[in-house]
Amino acid sequence: KLTSREFHPDNTVVDVDGLKIGDGSFVTMAGPCSIEGLDQIRETARIAKAGGASILRGGAFKPRTSPYAFQGLEEEGLKYIRQAADEFDMKVITEVMDEAHIDMVVEYSDILQIGARNMQNYKLLSAVGQTGKPIGLKRGIAGTIDEWLNAAEYIAVSGKSDVIFIERGIRTYETATRNTFDLSAIPLIKKLSHFPIIADPSHGTGVWDLVTPMARASVAAGADGMIVEIHPDPANAWSDGQQSLNEKNYLRMMDEVNVLVKAM
Ligand code: PEP
Ligand code: MN
Repeated sequence: KLTSREFHPDNTVVDVDGLKIGDGSFVTMAGPCSIEGLDQIRETARIAKAGGASILRGGAFKPRTSPYAFQGLEEEGLKYIRQAADEFDMKVITEVMDEAHIDMVVEYSDILQIGARNMQNYKLLSAVGQTGKPIGLKRGIAGTIDEWLNAAEYIAVSGKSDVIFIERGIRTYETATRNTFDLSAIPLIKKLSHFPIIADPSHGTGVWDLVTPMARASVAAGADGMIVEIHPDPANAWSDGQQSLNEKNYLRMMDEVNVLVKAM
């Protein structure tokens, strides 16, 4: 298989418009769950950059459990995140939910995120694989490692896009955390595939004060980076505030993570 370590023994270093993922460095993507407006994403970009993140995250198309919940600012939001990232010299990762929006998202984003709910949307995987943009592929909510690898294969076989695996936790019987963060997926994916894997301890735990310990653990487990949700005012975030770090806690997490990155 194209994504397998057997096929390609060396690590694939993903080039995000000049920024490398999988080269032994630890890359941080940070930002709000949802883009809420220009001021909010600019302020979050400032915080993200201050902590050392090089990629700004934020959703403009949100896959919400309830159809009555905020669904995202769509193209307006994409314009805001691009503007904020450019101002702070950052790259952009944002989710594309629908084939019909691929051209639009490609215009504004450096990495296309495939959400957990779409890990097995094979038409979408094939279509994003043809864009040539790196694809951040979240693990499905109940996705096995084998299903996840096959999803990546759909992307790899359909064109020229590289894959960045994103471990974001899986559904188990446990309800004390939002998901069960599968730390072992990090070394396992690295063993089975040559593509990089990053951790998403925010969705992996769903609880803000569990995010930093799992971020630290992800470095120790050999992750190529992480994607974390931060917000200038988590209590008033339009989505996922309970798992978002404020400025102070984010900066502290990054200090702790950097100590471990240096030690690795
Ligand atoms: C997100 O990144 O905000 C998101 C919706 O993640 P997931 O697809 O992992 O639930
Ligand atoms: Mn979220």
